[in-house]
Amino acid sequence: MRQTFSLLSALALLLALACAPARAQELQVVAAENFYGDLAQQLGGPQVRVASILVNPEQDPHLFEASVSTARLLKQAQLVVYNGLHYDPWMEKLLKAAQSPQRKVLIAADLVQARSTDNPHLWYQPAYMVSVAKALSQQFQTLDPAHSAAYASRLDAFLQSMTALSSRISTMKSKYAGLPVTATEPVFGYMAEALGLQMRNAGFQLSIMNDTEPRVSDVIQLEQDLRTRSVRVLFFNSQASNRAARKIQKLALAAHIPVVGVTETLPAGKHYQDWMLDQLAALDAGLAKDRP
Ligand SMILES: [Zn+2]
Repeated sequence: MRQTFSLLSALALLLALACAPARAQELQVVAAENFYGDLAQQLGGPQVRVASILVNPEQDPHLFEASVSTARLLKQAQLVVYNGLHYDPWMEKLLKAAQSPQRKVLIAADLVQARSTDNPHLWYQPAYMVSVAKALSQQFQTLDPAHSAAYASRLDAFLQSMTALSSRISTMKSKYAGLPVTATEPVFGYMAEALGLQMRNAGFQLSIMNDTEPRVSDVIQLEQDLRTRSVRVLFFNSQASNRAARKIQKLALAAHIPVVGVTETLPAGKHYQDWMLDQLAALDAGLAKDRP
């Protein structure tokens, strides 16, 4: 009997620990994607606790299905940030299912006034990330006015760190603007635009993104671009590839066209700024290669 009792008390204690509210002074933030989560953590510092949902680099975010634990996280959150533009349609469903009147919700697509047909990979446009950062910081300051000054100075530090990214972009733009490039998916689209690159094969990329079979004419055009070496690099989505995309990757390698791997979500252990700079460095190396 005593043993049963102690077992029960142990269980009760565990339950109490599991249900204990987080320290009251920490804002509970949920980010649908880990690059927004990274932004929230950079801007919120020790005053926020961030949980990101899409973190697995092995998983195609376009095909993600949310779980019960995700719904529980959202129920407790004071601030939620997600992308929108059908990139994370599960988020809207979950937010509706787990109603919470005090919760604030930021949608990146709304903040940057994206149109419904725009490329959903908004975080590849640094100017959009700046808009999201400003909105996040504003929310932190409203929800937790006691730490307003700390949030404001972290926003300044973030904006300062983004200048390294914009100067890299303008240097590369002056070297490479106008060069034709292609991709298996439009993941790098906004950055390619910022660099002034001429992106080809949009139709093929949309099919891969939507996980549909690409049109024969789109496949023929892309294969011809590779075979005739009409493009200087291939951006390959190393996170969300399928058979058609991998075939294209092989063709590019066979034609000695540099393949630049890009990912949907933030690799572990990196901040957004470093991630973008690393991918730009890889692209710079690819574009700098003399065509044999
Ligand atoms: Zn994608």
